[in-house]
Amino acid sequence: MKLKILVDNQAMPGFKQEWGFSCLIEAKENVLFDTGTSPDVLMFNAEKFGVKPEQIDKVVLSHDHFDHTGGLEWILQNPKVKVFALDSFSDKTKQRIKEEAELVEVNKPVEISNGIFSTGKLSNSIDEQSLALKTEKEIVVLTGCSHSGLEKILEKAGEHGKIHAVIGGFHGFKKFDVLKGINLIAATHCTEHKKEIQRLFPKAFAECAAGKEFEF
Ligand SMILES: [Zn+2]
Ligand SMILES: [Zn+2]
Repeated sequence: MKLKILVDNQAMPGFKQEWGFSCLIEAKENVLFDTGTSPDVLMFNAEKFGVKPEQIDKVVLSHDHFDHTGGLEWILQNPKVKVFALDSFSDKTKQRIKEEAELVEVNKPVEISNGIFSTGKLSNSIDEQSLALKTEKEIVVLTGCSHSGLEKILEKAGEHGKIHAVIGGFHGFKKFDVLKGINLIAATHCTEHKKEIQRLFPKAFAECAAGKEFEF
């Protein structure tokens, strides 16, 4: 399974950066997790990777914030795409998806594609879903902003097996102990305590940026 970071707050040379997050999962099917803030940046970086909207089978939107749903227009050029959004998303976002593609409303944990599982709706102040990916190296967790609390996400994703890696935004996460034993920690996007996480887990910490690839 290959992960390509399409949008992040930082970017590798030749890629564009913006405040937002998007990651393409290449497995049996190609699943796009979040879409960044703007269709232009998503398109630019996807093209740099040689990825076109038609190659994407499914899209998962972690939560209804502009920096995760903003690039939707790029992917909606593919009318065959299936978009998995939480049932609590705004009518505006849901309507826009339904105009162009198929909308699948998520509430409970569900298998999105072979080995790619949504945690289902986890709520704090904001509803959010994250992904647990079953790879050859056990479970890889993919998060948007972790508004629901990373510890809750890891617990839910951990039901699928031992967690090997976690990639995405950690927001204000501070319960650092729960990261012990994870082999790869790519805290990025909105992570407030990135420096602290890097200091505590120097071996596991990995820089993340648009243009980066991970293989599991
Ligand atoms: Zn957010
Ligand atoms: Zn965000």
